[in-house]
Amino acid sequence: MAELKRLSESRDLTRIERIGAHSHIRGLGLDSSLEARDASEGMVGQLPARRAAGLILQLIRQGKIAGRAVLLAGQPGTGKTALAMGIAKSLGAETPFASVAASELFSLDLSKTEALTQAFRRAIGVRIKEEAEIIEGEVVEISIDRPASASGAGGSSATPSGVVVAGKTGRLTLKTTDMETVYELGGKMIEALGKEKVQSGDVVALDKASGKVTKLGRSIGRSRDYDAVGPHTRTQGFLALFTGDTGEIRAEVREQIDTKVAEWREEGKADIVPGVLFIDEVHMLDIECFSFLNRALENAMAPILVIATNRGITSIRGTSYRSPHGIPPDFLDRLLIIMTQPYTEDDIRKILDIRCDEEDVEMSVDAKVLLTKIGVETSLRYAIHLITSAALACQKRKGKVVEMEDISRVYQLFLDVKRSTQYLMEYQSQYMF
Ligand code: ATP
Repeated sequence: MAELKRLSESRDLTRIERIGAHSHIRGLGLDSSLEARDASEGMVGQLPARRAAGLILQLIRQGKIAGRAVLLAGQPGTGKTALAMGIAKSLGAETPFASVAASELFSLDLSKTEALTQAFRRAIGVRIKEEAEIIEGEVVEISIDRPASASGAGGSSATPSGVVVAGKTGRLTLKTTDMETVYELGGKMIEALGKEKVQSGDVVALDKASGKVTKLGRSIGRSRDYDAVGPHTRTQGFLALFTGDTGEIRAEVREQIDTKVAEWREEGKADIVPGVLFIDEVHMLDIECFSFLNRALENAMAPILVIATNRGITSIRGTSYRSPHGIPPDFLDRLLIIMTQPYTEDDIRKILDIRCDEEDVEMSVDAKVLLTKIGVETSLRYAIHLITSAALACQKRKGKVVEMEDISRVYQLFLDVKRSTQYLMEYQSQYMF
């Protein structure tokens, strides 16, 4: 069996990296007995939570976590997203990882359950065991070289509808999102086209090695259903099912893909690999989303769900009830809960140190002491933001090393939450109601 390759599309790490500054997180920083090292792989402190995350990792690896979900709960900036990132990185490239912020689910283009379905499916991988190169796309044109006897005239002709099976060779023009490509057809492919009754406007999967053509559905113009099937060209490895981002996916298309995958599984050509879905700001979900999640977790193909919130007891959206983290009690009951704790001064100093390295910012010892103090008094995240802006202030005065004056300057320029609240309270009367 061919060696498995990774398809980067099946993982979503860059997305969380963009949401927060987590590029320094390379794992959970655990030793071989899953004990958390004080500072390792970009992770600092938060030892009990990291140990717990290590056990989750073990459960995921052993496939023992189906039907359950993990809740990361703790105050803002205590590393919940960093932990999710650490889990993702430790799982390695072969386990699909998708992340979404709950607020993203309430978009205008998609219903929230459709958005959740797509998020779930981004976290499910299909491991294709065979050496195969499959191109998916919309059929622009099919032309078959008909034998003289069949057509009377011979030569090549476009077939906008229906397919001529009698031909020996031909051409198929497929359009994927970014290109249009012409494929030379052999007898086997032409037969397959005929069997599937492929026409222009159909969405097909073309297996170049075996010459098999499979009809996946019809393009409906703007929404480009064919995009939903994942990477346009995939070799053996993982493919994310329904990468989404293309609007609502019709149920038939989804069913067709499920059938195809089930077929591959039966034929021993593919395995399903449940990955990890991370939903941040989970208190933003409403009661309908929670019942969807409850049901979705029962599915045998369900990915491992890791959710995070920084809220305490709050109302469950869509109801007049309050509950811990705004999560309905029945859903809470199936969660493994990991709490994150506020950081000590020493942890904050180490994290700021790592971030300076990560951002290639040279900072004097005094400046670091001041920044750590600011981090303790305001928030870790605010202090991390100041690294970048202080480096710019330093650059502006043509300095090489960020000094206390740069930190003080940006501290005065950008307010932290506490000072901004204080300011608003003092000058409230001058604002509009
Ligand atoms: P929120 O509740 O506001 O979403 P959060 O708990 O998800 O916050 P993060 O975004 O993970 O907090 O942390 C804030 C910043 O601190 C990020 O840049 C993160 O990478 C970094 N960070 C947090 N905890 C750690 C840690 N233990 N080790 C290294 N970096 C950390």
